[in-house]
Amino acid sequence: MGKKVLVIGEMKNNKLRNVTFEAIAASKLMSKENEVIGVICGEGNLEAQATEMIYFGADRVHTIENEKMKAYTSQVFAKAIIHVIDKVNPDAIIMGHTAVGKDLAPKLASRLNSGLVSDVIELEEFGGNIVFTRPIYSGKAFEKKIITDGIIVATIRPNNITPLDHDDTRKGELEPVNITIDTVDVIIKDVLKKATAGVDLSEAKVVVAGGRGVKGKEGFEPLYELADLLGGAVGASRGACDAGYCDYSLQIGQTGKVVTPDLYIACGISGAIQHLAGMSNSKVIVAINKDPEANIFNVADYGIVGDLFEVVPQLTAEIKKMKL
Ligand code: FAD
Repeated sequence: MGKKVLVIGEMKNNKLRNVTFEAIAASKLMSKENEVIGVICGEGNLEAQATEMIYFGADRVHTIENEKMKAYTSQVFAKAIIHVIDKVNPDAIIMGHTAVGKDLAPKLASRLNSGLVSDVIELEEFGGNIVFTRPIYSGKAFEKKIITDGIIVATIRPNNITPLDHDDTRKGELEPVNITIDTVDVIIKDVLKKATAGVDLSEAKVVVAGGRGVKGKEGFEPLYELADLLGGAVGASRGACDAGYCDYSLQIGQTGKVVTPDLYIACGISGAIQHLAGMSNSKVIVAINKDPEANIFNVADYGIVGDLFEVVPQLTAEIKKMKL
């Protein structure tokens, strides 16, 4: 018999992040019979986003619209979601393993006194239980976890589970929910962002990353050109960030972002374990490094031993020719 799974939708720039649709697919991987109930919090009219969740497989979606929910804050969002949990009484709660998910999921699990499985990359039904797979020890090993008691709370790693097909003939219920936000609750009135162009790094299908080998800010320019050509985003090692070659928002790894693109091109990155923790699950890894002994070659599907300042422009030129 199917169970009730609550999927917490996450918004960015007034659009649902892809990981929301991946979470719906994960709910159905647990069992095709599951009823998927979405919840979205935000300011303004959320009907279009809720309908998108239905097109991607949700059966009904609760919307909590409130001007004080323009940006995520732990206190207010946890309160709103708990209100929906009390109403829905789900068997499982799934959301993205994003900055928001990492903050919210433990709060909910603690409030529900239930088990939390974070950073899930695979899940399957086995013998009546759901087996969750997650990387441990910076991706060197994989742990399989089963939660047998209480409500399951899980966060899934973005870009790992394929969303269900978008079907705009699917029907589902939309249910607005009202909550009261006290004046003592912390709210964010506005978010000032650095102007960044292009694709979101954590959801990019192609990532071109630079390390200390790029030798300076200008060394990133050929990487941006290649990333633009491939419709991807630029990332970096901590070595490059620490050296001041780029912003820390680009850092990939244990203490940076975790990415799982279809293609990861590492340029001048040695492949320290802390860096691998953030990218080793990429589907295809290409490494460009002038040191044939560099550790990055141990995880690469394709390795190019050479100077990145020669290899990257050549690669760009060849791809341009293919696109003509
Ligand atoms: P280096 O190790 O200096 O490697 C530079 C590479 O560039 C070398 O392999 C060299 O052969 C190559 N190279 C140089 N010139 C060229 C050229 N012209 N063409 C081609 N190749 C060239 N690191 C992260 O990345 N992410 C993290 O999240 C992270 N978290 C950390 C957390 C902790 C607690 C600690 C202790 C460390 C962490 N680190 C992290 C740092 C990590 O240990 C490494 O120091 C860092 O990843 C090294 O960055 P790098 O590969 O760019 O630099």
